[in-house]
Amino acid sequence: MPWRYVLYSTCLIFLMIGATQYGLWRATQATTALPAQLQTSPKRTGPAALQTVTPTPRAISTPAPAKGQTHKEASAATSTPPSLSPAEEGLPEEWQILETIGTHTLAFKNGEHWVTQGDLLVTPPKLQGQQTTEVLPINLQPPQAWPDGVVPYTIATGVDPERVQAAIQAFHEHTVIRLVACDDDPNYVTFTAGEHPYKCYSFLGMQGGEQAIVLGSSCTTGNVIHEIMHALGFGHTHSREDRDEYVEMFWHHIPSTEKLQYQKFPATMTNPANLDFDFDSVLMYPDHLAGNPHVKVMRRRDGKPFQTNRTQLSASDIAQVNFVYDGL
Ligand SMILES: [Zn+2]
Repeated sequence: MPWRYVLYSTCLIFLMIGATQYGLWRATQATTALPAQLQTSPKRTGPAALQTVTPTPRAISTPAPAKGQTHKEASAATSTPPSLSPAEEGLPEEWQILETIGTHTLAFKNGEHWVTQGDLLVTPPKLQGQQTTEVLPINLQPPQAWPDGVVPYTIATGVDPERVQAAIQAFHEHTVIRLVACDDDPNYVTFTAGEHPYKCYSFLGMQGGEQAIVLGSSCTTGNVIHEIMHALGFGHTHSREDRDEYVEMFWHHIPSTEKLQYQKFPATMTNPANLDFDFDSVLMYPDHLAGNPHVKVMRRRDGKPFQTNRTQLSASDIAQVNFVYDGL
């Protein structure tokens, strides 16, 4: 019967439409039910550090950088942090003592060495028992001069002798100091290889017996000259008692563990000849933190920039050495 075929055909069509819809629904369900590890990751927008961040408006406008200078460099070079004394910074009372007395200081254990002011070796007081402290208060004694300006020395294995000889030559050329090969001398310097390539150390003045000048593999002839100056008894130029007349310190830029490097030392250790402040001294620190030129720790009060001299004795270095040692 035709109507029966029509009915069957209609039912068949509805069944096919229903099956198709069910298939589509199943396919949709199957996609969302995939195991997590196989699902497509959402589109990444890049690491946080690379995302565009709307800068916060600055209260003080930053000058446009000079040609060839980045904004960061321009900002660091022109920042004008307030100059505060250690007392104003709220540092411990000991720091105020260091500022005025200069002979009381702290020694830090740096590997196998006890060090103060960054590169001055000290002999720590006898430790009681198995004390494991790595910071000790010490009383830095006034440095002792080498009799007749003669410094016997040896060079240990592992030290580049050319750098040492070049440094010695600088003293022989310009000063009354004579470094001579050690020959049963009771007091002498041994140039010793250091563990850290960029660190060099020296005691301040003659210690009695053997004393080390420790030189890392990357220490230059200028660094050796700097350390010999310490061995002769001279402290850092930036530690002069009168340095605040010449530089403005940015104490809050200096990490607390580094502040000790900027304490003042008496004139007998830093300016015995009573000379003008010398930014060109081989014993003058740079105006920035070691290894970070963007963090300024001091600036000249006259506004002039200054470069660190680590190549040769300056005129005042020579004059200081000859003032102390000429005639000894
Ligand atoms: Zn030094």
